[in-house]
Amino acid sequence: MNVLAPKRTLGNIRQLAKQIRESVDVQEYERFPVCKVVDVLEKAAIKEGNTFLEVGFEDEMGSAAGQTDQITGVITLRNDIYINLTDDGEEGRVTFVHELGHQLLHTGAPLYRVAPHINLADIECAEAQADIFACEVLIDVEWLKKNIAKVRVSDIAKHFGLPAYLLEEHIERLVINGDIAEGIQLELCFEEQFQFSLIPLQGNPLQESLALESV
Ligand SMILES: [Zn+2]
Repeated sequence: MNVLAPKRTLGNIRQLAKQIRESVDVQEYERFPVCKVVDVLEKAAIKEGNTFLEVGFEDEMGSAAGQTDQITGVITLRNDIYINLTDDGEEGRVTFVHELGHQLLHTGAPLYRVAPHINLADIECAEAQADIFACEVLIDVEWLKKNIAKVRVSDIAKHFGLPAYLLEEHIERLVINGDIAEGIQLELCFEEQFQFSLIPLQGNPLQESLALESV
């Protein structure tokens, strides 16, 4: 769905994502504890007598993996996505954090549906804003800046638990935003085909868990 949202820069969304990361004290090289966050937020909502998360079924939700009520902020995850989330799977992780982005950024906000052929810029597109939020929560941008040229994108995505295509999209935004040098992006294009890593990882906390192949 193409939805026009109030403008949010990458910097605005990064600030919010940073607060979320700080609230669970996650280190920059650690996988963000999505299930723990779900648990904490759900318990907090129950304590207040509110609903935080619901599970829906395919016949109700169709192709939508998740949705967030724009008025109440209640997040609904499709059953299979919820199960994937409880297994700490990447689809479940990214869908939940994307919906959390909608909840925090768009609950009660004026949103306007626009024709599908109209190209919205990321700064005013509800879906792009939620994707940016998800990526910035799941990966520390400072870690990414330091390691983008050393570790394959597919391995970074695997370690931090989000789909590689989403990370690649976000890296393009980071290049535009000046967070990452443009040359890196070219390497990513080749990387898909040739699976090379520019610099072997040394002394990096991810080295063992990623088990990089040398080329
Ligand atoms: Zn969305």
